[in-house]
Amino acid sequence: MEHPESTILYICPTCFRVCETEQECHEHQMTAEHQMFACNPGKLGDERRKPVSDRFGKYVSRAPRWFLEAAGWIED
Ligand SMILES: [Zn+2]
Repeated sequence: MEHPESTILYICPTCFRVCETEQECHEHQMTAEHQMFACNPGKLGDERRKPVSDRFGKYVSRAPRWFLEAAGWIED
């Protein structure tokens, strides 16, 4: 069975646990910040999987673009 072209993943912003279904991580701390992010990492080799650099060529973060988008740090 072939994988779909893009898959939504859910990632915990605290411990970076990744799941295929949306759920609460850290169940004993039911706060909004422990709600997992919905991410779309795109296809293999997609630009979204690369770290983001600013207009001076400096990396904004070592995290891939899809993570920063999901975390709300950069605009889509
Ligand atoms: Zn977690």
